[in-house]
Amino acid sequence: MLETDIFILGAGPGGVATALKLSYLGIPCIIADKAVFPRDKVCGDAISGKVTTLLNRLDPEILARFHNSPFHVDVWGIRFLAPNERLLDIPFKAQQDRSVQNAPGYVCRRMDFDNFLIEELKQRNNVQFFDNTAITKYERQGEFWMLSNDDGSFKVKTKLLIAADGAYSRFARQIGGLEKDNAHYAAAVRAYYSNVKGLSEEGFIELHFIKSIIPGYFWVFPLPDGGANVGLGMRSDILAKKQLNLKECLAELIENHPKLTPRFAEARLEGKVIGFGLPLGSKKRTISGDGYMLVGDAGHLVDPLTGEGIGNAFYSGFIAAEQAQACLKENNFSAAFLQAYDVRVERVLGSEMKISYRLQKMISFPRIANVLGYIISRNQKAIQVLSNIYTDFEVRLKLTKPLFWLKMYLGLDRKSNSK
Ligand SMILES: Cc1cc2nc3c(=O)[nH]c(=O)nc-3n(C[C@H](O)[C@H](O)[C@H](O)COP(=O)(O)OP(=O)(O)OC[C@H]3O[C@@H](n4cnc5c(N)ncnc54)[C@H](O)[C@@H]3O)c2cc1C
Repeated sequence: MLETDIFILGAGPGGVATALKLSYLGIPCIIADKAVFPRDKVCGDAISGKVTTLLNRLDPEILARFHNSPFHVDVWGIRFLAPNERLLDIPFKAQQDRSVQNAPGYVCRRMDFDNFLIEELKQRNNVQFFDNTAITKYERQGEFWMLSNDDGSFKVKTKLLIAADGAYSRFARQIGGLEKDNAHYAAAVRAYYSNVKGLSEEGFIELHFIKSIIPGYFWVFPLPDGGANVGLGMRSDILAKKQLNLKECLAELIENHPKLTPRFAEARLEGKVIGFGLPLGSKKRTISGDGYMLVGDAGHLVDPLTGEGIGNAFYSGFIAAEQAQACLKENNFSAAFLQAYDVRVERVLGSEMKISYRLQKMISFPRIANVLGYIISRNQKAIQVLSNIYTDFEVRLKLTKPLFWLKMYLGLDRKSNSK
């Protein structure tokens, strides 16, 4: 039986971010994952600036090692396809100053990115990492959580449990009471393709808002070896209402969409098309309790507009580590004390979740999406504003205001940027 103050369940980005942050705070922990790394995780593989900002805050050398790795593509902008098939390239603002700046975003297979994080974790001498260890039993005994695997060969007793076991977290559902709510949940499928034509040479990620699948979107993200991460996602309640099958939709679009089909003419599917869930953060939930905190997908913290969850898993992991430090200092692991974790997560991520949710609802109407696409394509100022959408949440807030769009519509700067 292992004994520890802090045990982390799951070594995806959320769990590893928590463990690394604790380690840099000088606090030992044990972390376990059911997988053996490197392992795949179904994802779009887009790594936002949030992640690199936090890695840099932790230790600039970790970020430098990531930058110097061969397994990522630098992302310098977004290519949108509106429902009326108007194509629009939006370079990130940072693109203008590329010589001195790191890219604002990256695409990196999770097989590589998560393994990179695990390798960083293994360098830390105050972290004990167990792979191939599926935690299936948890029990509250007095002030402790007792956890074990199926056959009892791994047992741990901990004062504080940080559950970072992802979208299908049993602990979050059974103990935290976080049930799946289809209006605040999305489903998505992902496929790896080689030989897709017309990928941006600038490493732009592509988001296609296609009439038949709106308010979902189809994505094509460029990978380092010339391959592409291709996928399709949609809110679960709408998916159920439309009675769509995402794998069939993906195949249908690749086979029959006038803009996509020629690009996939010589493409080859590498492996299988795989689906997975995204617990969205558009509904406020309690993510801590007696002796535990929920981090990342286990806490339903995926951005409801972009589907981005790695950055929020990192943020919640850092906040959980700091909260754990406060718990140890006060020797208080009660639900009442741990509420401070919920408050901080809400303060850091709450407003951007609300804004993203408002924007998600706006673009769910094809007509609105078309009109916005039209306004953007004819207005340089709108393009400038949008070029900051992934890095600046004030910008997202602006985009939820009808007055902003009216001003853009009436604006004098109408230099076209459409293709
Ligand atoms: C199709 C799709 C596309 C996406 N695209 C993007 C994107 O482009 N960018 C982005 O930022 N986000 C994206 N996301 C969301 C992103 O994948 C998640 O938000 C992110 O992985 C959350 O990290 P996490 O550490 O909380 O959970 P996970 O990455 O799921 O890690 C959980 C870990 O817990 C382990 N585990 C689970 N159960 C147990 C157990 N019982 N015992 C031990 N270990 C266990 C698992 O093996 C896993 O390693 C996408 C999601 C999907 C489904």
